[in-house]
Amino acid sequence: MIDNLEMRQLEILDVRLPSLDNEQKRKLYRLQSGVKGENLFLEMVQKYGHPNWKIYSDYWFSYGKRLQADFIVITDNRWLVVEVKHYDGLFEYIDNECYLSGNLLNDNYLATMDLRIRHIRHMAHEINTGIKVEGLFVLINENSEVHVQHPFDFDIKLKNELKRYFTALKNSDIKPITQNYAQQIQNVLNKYSAGTPFLPKAISDSVWQELKRGITCGQCGSFGVNAKYRSLVCSICNATESKEQALIRMINELRLLYYGAEDMITGGRLYEYCDKKITSRTAYRILEFYNKGKYKNK
Ligand SMILES: [Zn+2]
Repeated sequence: MIDNLEMRQLEILDVRLPSLDNEQKRKLYRLQSGVKGENLFLEMVQKYGHPNWKIYSDYWFSYGKRLQADFIVITDNRWLVVEVKHYDGLFEYIDNECYLSGNLLNDNYLATMDLRIRHIRHMAHEINTGIKVEGLFVLINENSEVHVQHPFDFDIKLKNELKRYFTALKNSDIKPITQNYAQQIQNVLNKYSAGTPFLPKAISDSVWQELKRGITCGQCGSFGVNAKYRSLVCSICNATESKEQALIRMINELRLLYYGAEDMITGGRLYEYCDKKITSRTAYRILEFYNKGKYKNK
C-alpha cells in the first residue's frame, strides 16, 4: 500500500477543522489522487507481474539533482523506472510542453522522466553495466487519454495496456533475484537515497485551538462514539472498538498532527483531544505504554 504522511495529516485536519483553506483542499485532492493512482499501479504490477520481482516505491534520490521515482520495478536483469499520473483527461505533448485537457502543465514531466531514467541507469550500472534500465510513464486514470508524437526513449502506457505489458515482461523476466544481487541493489539505492522533502509540519497552537475534540469511530469516522465500560460503541454505524485500540488511533493522529514535534503529545493533550471521553488516568496510562513501545506494530 502506498501511503503519504502529508495526505494523512490533511485528512485529519479535514475532519477536525471547520474548513480547510482552498490551498489545503487542492493539496489534499492532489495527494489523494496521486496516492490512488500509485495504488492502482501497484495492484496491477502485483497482479500481472512476477512474484520474483522487487518493487521499490517513492524513492527519492540525489544524483547531482534531487529527483523521485514513483516506482522502480526490478527483475533479474532489468530496472523499470515508473512514473504514474492519475490525470483525468487528455495528456498531450506539444512543442516541448505538457498539456492536460488543453491546459499547460507547470512541469515538463516527460523531460524529467528522461533525466530520472538516465540517473537511475548510472546507479544500476555501478552494479553491472549489463542491467537494462527502461522507463514506463503510466496514465492510470480510466479517463486518461494520451497524444504524444515526440519520440521518447521510454514507454507511455494507459491503464488498459498494462496487463499485456506486464504479462509479456513476466514471460521474459522470470529468473529469481539472487541474494547477492538484492544486497547490491539495496546498497546502491541507499548510497543515493535522499529522503522525502515532503513531510508534514507540526500544527500551530492556533490550529490546535480550532480542532474539533472527540474520538472518531474507527469504522465510519464519525464522532458518534459513546463510552461503554472498556469499549466505545458508535451510535451511527454500531461498530465497537476497545478504548485501548481507539486511543492508539488517537495517539497516531496526534503524532501526524505534531509530526517532528512528538514531545507536544502529553497525556493532558490526549485527554483533551479525546474530549475527555476517557478518564485522564487512562489517557496517561495508554500514552505511557505507547511511548514504552508496547503497541509497536499495531
Ligand atoms: Zn461508526
